[in-house]
Amino acid sequence: MSNQIPCDADLMFIEAAATGTVHIAVQYRAYHLNDEPVIETVSGGAALIAMAMSPTVTRCGKRTFPQFERDHIKTTRFRDEQLCRACYRTLTPADQERAFEHETPDGEDDEPEAAA
Ligand SMILES: [Zn+2]
Repeated sequence: MSNQIPCDADLMFIEAAATGTVHIAVQYRAYHLNDEPVIETVSGGAALIAMAMSPTVTRCGKRTFPQFERDHIKTTRFRDEQLCRACYRTLTPADQERAFEHETPDGEDDEPEAAA
């Protein structure tokens, strides 16, 4: 079964421009990546370069380079229905809640009836 994402790792949302589907990737901190010790020893710009050169793998297995491509774009604002089901299913229940911690294009609709 899937492991829970470390609480200090970030969920990253990557929108496929062609379909509008939003995939989920996990952005681990350098110290989570034990098999890449080079990242632990560099800092600042060098660490950014190391991150930029490695693909981002979404939870459903797509390898993307959101830092280079225009087909896959990092996003923070999308509708729940856009979430990739395959990505979503790999998450533990606690992480699935985190997947919904994003902004929506029509955020006003989420407001409880404050105006009434
Ligand atoms: Zn996906």
